[in-house]
Amino acid sequence: MTDHTNADTLRTPIVAVLGHVDHGKTSLLDKIRGSAVSEGEAGAITQHIGATDIPLDTISGMAGELIDPTDFDLPGLLFIDTPGHHSFSTLRARGGALADIAVLVVDVNDGFQPQTEEAIDILRRTGTPFVVAANKVDTTPGWNPQAGQPIQRSLEAQSERAESMLNENLYEIIGQLSDAGFSADLYWRVQDFQKNIGVVPLSAITGEGVPDLLTVLMGLSQRFMKEEMAIDVFGAGEGTVLEVKDERGFGATIDTVVYDGVVRNGDRIVVGGQEDPIDTEIRALLQPRPLEEIRTEKQFEKVAEVGAAAGVKIAAPDLDRAMAGAPVRVVRDRPVEEVVEEVKAELAEIEVETAENGVVVKADTLGSLEAMANALREAEVPILRAEVGDIAPRDIAVAETANQDEHKAILGFNVDLLTNAETELENADVKLFTNDVIYQLIEDYETYVEEKQRAQQ
Ligand code: GDP
Repeated sequence: MTDHTNADTLRTPIVAVLGHVDHGKTSLLDKIRGSAVSEGEAGAITQHIGATDIPLDTISGMAGELIDPTDFDLPGLLFIDTPGHHSFSTLRARGGALADIAVLVVDVNDGFQPQTEEAIDILRRTGTPFVVAANKVDTTPGWNPQAGQPIQRSLEAQSERAESMLNENLYEIIGQLSDAGFSADLYWRVQDFQKNIGVVPLSAITGEGVPDLLTVLMGLSQRFMKEEMAIDVFGAGEGTVLEVKDERGFGATIDTVVYDGVVRNGDRIVVGGQEDPIDTEIRALLQPRPLEEIRTEKQFEKVAEVGAAAGVKIAAPDLDRAMAGAPVRVVRDRPVEEVVEEVKAELAEIEVETAENGVVVKADTLGSLEAMANALREAEVPILRAEVGDIAPRDIAVAETANQDEHKAILGFNVDLLTNAETELENADVKLFTNDVIYQLIEDYETYVEEKQRAQQ
């Protein structure tokens, strides 16, 4: 149960990890969870639906001399489990990003790559504070691991050759951040993390630098974001849909990150849905069962309530129409119509300019739909219609109505073609592009258009 003695409490900052494919996002999250667990204390981490909660005590146990826990009154860090800017762009609230803070993972040998640039664009647009994890320092030739040492000291303990090679790569990244308009430096040289981006050299494999990263994230949250973390623990719960999933025995459910107030079983909620907001009542609030209790079937346990910040699975009627990235609001002490209007207004903030003629865009979340729309605007590709969801027969019919051949196309980001749309697509004069990388999707479409134009000449 939530502690109800204090109505105005500081919640845990929500952290998202993003970066280019293969730069080590998943490994970093695994390392953070793994090292926290091997810290050994009971309650070292709490696994939520879609997120992992690492309390301050655990962080301070891992960070040793780097942290003085008495400097902090924020309770810890909540890491969103699905890495990548796709999941990050799900996390939007009121035109900003719901993740309070982000870790941008960059492979120290590889530097900035297209998805690093995409991630930077999202971070800039949403004004999200972030830290750069310059990952894979252990791959530096001649690297001499210094487990348990702060990364600055570990760097100093390397051979001159290894240190200078690594420094060269690190300064390359700092230069690339500067080209992107951010002033950055190695984290121990940064005085003000609001003005300068801290770069933390680390290895998601050896774990060197990981405590430093957690320390920087804690410090940044504590110094600059404390006010935003103040919540009313009695307040009507507010959250964002991470994912819509069918769950045996429960039907359509929504994995939700709750960032304000409290959500209780039986609460009436309004959820952003395709077409209109969904007005429904919570049938069950589900959390993962502790690992040792997991049997084949009952992976979840029912809880009576969850307070922010938390990840929880909500089961309720009509959630099949819910959209990833959409708001979830508990209706308490005010008319439901007011909450419905609020949810509608929030969804209306998602800017997708449509034209009378153009391509059909489908994406898995509202955030990624918005990111697609922005990228297409920059590439000067007009959009006829843009929606969240898998590709359905209706989308093919709509694409066929486009009045230029090259626009008879569907661009699907992180979505599938529904089985019942397969024959429809075969019989239609519509070209389908799907990908889980925005720039590749647009590049494929542009190549197709160029080839088509060349063929016509
Ligand atoms: P993601 O696509 O960003 O989630 O990247 P992954 O975490 O899946 O990592 C991609 C590959 O890089 C995997 O083979 C990892 O084992 C490897 N890798 C990730 N971090 C490190 C690191 O710090 N050091 C080394 N040597 N390999 C790493």
